Formats: sequence, C-alpha cells, structure tokens
Amino acid sequence: MIDGLDIVRHAAARRMKLSVDPRSGRVRLVLPPRASLKAALDWAEAHRGWVERQRARLPEPWPIVPGMVVPFQGEDHELDWQEGHKRTPKIVDGRIEIGGPIDLLSSRLLRWLRTAAKEVLEADTRDLAAAHDIMIGTVSVGDPKARWGSCSSSGDIRYSWRLILAPAYVRKATVAHEVAHRIHMDHSRAFHRLAADLYGGDPSPARDWLRRHGARLYWFGRDD
Ligand SMILES: [Zn+2]
Repeated sequence: MIDGLDIVRHAAARRMKLSVDPRSGRVRLVLPPRASLKAALDWAEAHRGWVERQRARLPEPWPIVPGMVVPFQGEDHELDWQEGHKRTPKIVDGRIEIGGPIDLLSSRLLRWLRTAAKEVLEADTRDLAAAHDIMIGTVSVGDPKARWGSCSSSGDIRYSWRLILAPAYVRKATVAHEVAHRIHMDHSRAFHRLAADLYGGDPSPARDWLRRHGARLYWFGRDD
C-alpha cells in the first residue's frame, strides 16, 4: 500500500480519484459511496508510479538549522545560532540571533515566528479596518492546511502564521481580502472590488505568489 494514504468516501464522488496534497505530501484517495475498498486499493496501487512522480515534485522538507536562511516578512535573514546568544530571537543587521540548546532551536524559532505573525497580522488588520470604519472581532493565527485566512460571520479573523514568511505585499493582500469579507461574505464582483480598494491595487500578483510559492511555506520547519 502507498505510504501516507488517506481514504475518503465522498457522497458526491462519481468515480475514484487520487491526488497528492502539496502542503502535507499525503495522498488522498476519494471513493464513491459504494465503491469496493479492495478494488480502490488495487487501482491506487496501479497508479503508484504517478503518485511517486507527483511526490518527487513536492517542495523539499525545510528543516530549521543554524546558518539557514529564514524568509522573515519575505526577506532573507540568516539564522545565527550560538549557544551563548540570548535565547529569545532578535533581529540584528538582517540576521536572526538566537541562543540556547540546539535541540530547542526549532521549537523556539517557530514560537517566535508565530508570535511575530500574530502581532504583525493583527496590526495590519486593525489599522486597515479602522481606516475604513469596518468593525472586526478577534484576530488570531493558527496553522490551517487549506486557507491563508478566514473570516467568521461574527467578524473574527484568523490567519496562517506562515504568512509572516511571505513578502509584505502578499500578507497585506490577504489582510485586505479578509477585511473585505466583513462587508461581503462571498466572492462576488462587489467583494473583489472592495478587496482591491482596501489593498490599494490589484491583488493578483499576491495571489500568484501564493499559488507559486505558498505550498513551500508549509514545509518550513519540517525535517521530513
Ligand atoms: Zn475569501
């Protein structure tokens, strides 16, 4: 059987379908409600070559190691780890200085990035909403697999913390998109007009950037 295979029965599925998630590397096998599991597994096995080719095209794991480049706000920062540095990361001359035991390097850096993401995204969101008299609820960050941001009907906005690894224009376009959902809870023309107004330009370059490079951000901090 193929490694990392998730089998999902889907009421609306007409036929079997295989896909490889570029964010997790997992393989998804979707089955119509009454398809035979055995037949489906045989069919997936027959497509093993295709699955392996898709996987070979996935982004590389991107482990956190001393000397690596961290794209903080989209700008390259060398990770300058020395045991004797202060434990809390600090940006010094375009480098991220971080100290403490090497085995805690990864978790400490990830925690710091997440905190920075929350601060920056919350400030961007509140500033934009206030400038346009739009009411918002709480702003938080998480690590969702499917979306860069979401906005609830009660006005709470949630982002992927990984946006802190993207260029500022990409982050700001995502913020404008979610704030625009406070007025239009759909993706209508009126919504897209407002999102472009709030962003102050055409957000398609930002969307293209996420389409091209977004999946790679999901591999940041992963060893395998
Ligand atoms: Zn949307």
